[in-house]
Amino acid sequence: MPETYDIAIIGGGPAGLTAGLYASRARMRTILLEKAICGGQIVTTDTIENFPGFPDGIKGPELADWMLKQASHFGLEVRPAEAGGLILKDKENEPFVIELTDGARLEALSVIISTGAAWNSLGIPGEKELTGRGVSYCATCDGPIFKGKDVAVIGGGDTALEDALFLAKFAAKVTIVHRRDRFRGAKILQERVFANSKIEVCFNSVATGITGAGKCEALEIKDVKTDAARSIKVSGVFVLIGMIPNSGIFKAVIKTDSKGYILCDDDMKTSLDGVFACGDVRNKLLRQVVTAAGDGATAAFSAQHYVERIKGVEYK
Ligand code: NAP
Repeated sequence: MPETYDIAIIGGGPAGLTAGLYASRARMRTILLEKAICGGQIVTTDTIENFPGFPDGIKGPELADWMLKQASHFGLEVRPAEAGGLILKDKENEPFVIELTDGARLEALSVIISTGAAWNSLGIPGEKELTGRGVSYCATCDGPIFKGKDVAVIGGGDTALEDALFLAKFAAKVTIVHRRDRFRGAKILQERVFANSKIEVCFNSVATGITGAGKCEALEIKDVKTDAARSIKVSGVFVLIGMIPNSGIFKAVIKTDSKGYILCDDDMKTSLDGVFACGDVRNKLLRQVVTAAGDGATAAFSAQHYVERIKGVEYK
């Protein structure tokens, strides 16, 4: 028979770890499943400077490590495992069954989905072939390899701007290619980008191909206003064009928006009673570490009350 937990949390980024902290402090028997390293996207973020309490910023992996330690300290059980499916319950006081990709199963009265989102790709010629050979989706991971070289960054959001600034510490030159005439990212990051002499900005431009013999040598771009095409010689191309939610395995049983983000109410309740969602996988205005943490706390509180209600021990 599989073990039965009060709450199972699927995904160990800041949302899931905060949910784990709150659920464990509420003395719920809680397990968190994480298929890779706990911390989610902050593990590949150099410095986080907008999480309150760290006036000089904090390294992403360090913050992830502290979050994991804090939740574990209060009794959160963390298992390296990937959820492959969710079997619904027939009666409210029965558990959900989570099928793991290694064939195991576990049961939980309530489920919190905090599976985050994955990086988008451009789908242009050369991108797939040269991934890992100059094409990258993670500046923190691969940036130092490009010391003294020219690189390009595609995108105009916070990630593109932050990572262009990070890359400028190593690279000889960073060219940001963005499809519009202004950036989407935070104004403070824009100011830093425009003030950095190593960064050149190509607005109104789209990437049309990445070329090179066995490694990235050039990025083909096109001006969307004039249709003029040109090639920029670069050793690295960082594709930083946003994310897609990791909601695939839940889509059949839980309502999502047209982009696949899980629909939730203010209490993080999904369309399925007993299942909650938090962090980047849910539909929301602002995807930040601090909002992920807030979501996680709310999801855990809602799950706690759901579990106590079906056990008949709710404090009213
Ligand atoms: P994002 O905010 O969705 O921005 C994606 C950027 O890529 C946009 O500028 C978009 O252009 C562009 N783009 C999308 N698809 C494209 C395509 N096919 N071809 C060319 N360009 C394309 O994604 P993000 O920057 O990764 O950020 C994701 C979330 O994390 C955001 O909520 C962001 O605020 C948050 N974040 C926060 C921080 C921070 O606070 N320090 C750091 C990183 C990320 P358009 O503008 O034209 O749509």
